[in-house]
Amino acid sequence: MGIDIGGTKIAGAVVDTDGAIVRQVRVATPAAITGIQTVVADMIAALADGEDAVAGVAAAGFVDRDRSTVYFAPNIDWRDEPLRDHLQHLTGVRVVVENDANAAGWAEYRFGAGEGLGDVVMLTIGTGVGGAIVIDGELLRGGHGIAAELGHLRLVPDGRICGCGQRGCLEMYGSGRALQHEAEEIARDAAFGIGAELHDTQQRAGGTIPGQEISRLIVAGDPGAAEAMRRVATAIGTACGSLAAVLDPQRFIIGGGVSQLGDVLLAPMREAFAAAMPAYESRPVADFAVARLTNDAGVIGAADLARRAFTAGG
Ligand SMILES: [Zn+2]
Repeated sequence: MGIDIGGTKIAGAVVDTDGAIVRQVRVATPAAITGIQTVVADMIAALADGEDAVAGVAAAGFVDRDRSTVYFAPNIDWRDEPLRDHLQHLTGVRVVVENDANAAGWAEYRFGAGEGLGDVVMLTIGTGVGGAIVIDGELLRGGHGIAAELGHLRLVPDGRICGCGQRGCLEMYGSGRALQHEAEEIARDAAFGIGAELHDTQQRAGGTIPGQEISRLIVAGDPGAAEAMRRVATAIGTACGSLAAVLDPQRFIIGGGVSQLGDVLLAPMREAFAAAMPAYESRPVADFAVARLTNDAGVIGAADLARRAFTAGG
């Protein structure tokens, strides 16, 4: 089974060997940390239903190489939290802990947009930017378990301050939050022309422009919203150029809410990628695809990683 601990909800599912969800449950994420562990333990016990099961538990944060301890979780107040041992103690079910972006990337590699390939990079464009790297059919974990934090690749020296304490991270230019930032900047220049519609939307909303409104305007072809999207797509495409120079993946898989906009996002991304890629014309290059498993990727990937962890030869 896979469990995905999100900021607003905790999802759990029993997943078969083909990555299909057999049974699933969802509850709101409790505010208290102790509450989260109880909810997850109850969910594992309910999904196991007395059978011999294993559980992959995905959460946003730095997870150690042994997949047992959460070093740090930005949204939950976990510091060196021995999550695996706690959950195993509470449930009697064998558990591995996974970073949520790694779990989602693994699911796409195994059963989604990366199926049949060996080397893929996934970028999950949500409020922030999550990353996962699969090389030669294995998840890249790094020396301490926390590789592939692609959102914190430095894109702009001395750029915008990021929540991680650095400046100019990809997350500050190529995320859902960045899209909002760009849209609001364009709205401020309403007098200049293309930001008129964004400006009006901002006035109606009373300060910030809701993400759904920006998506609606992008789909409607508003030039201001399209420009905001182009800037965000360019940031991601540029970062992919650097990633390709290091990792040479066969495919970049783009997930998260924004990815559902499809070619509106991918076309300028490919353009920026070509411009940033060393010797673009003289070598085979990665293609771009939209993630297929959307909201279920976390639970599917976590379940499959748990099965592999506890299966001989897996
Ligand atoms: Zn950062």
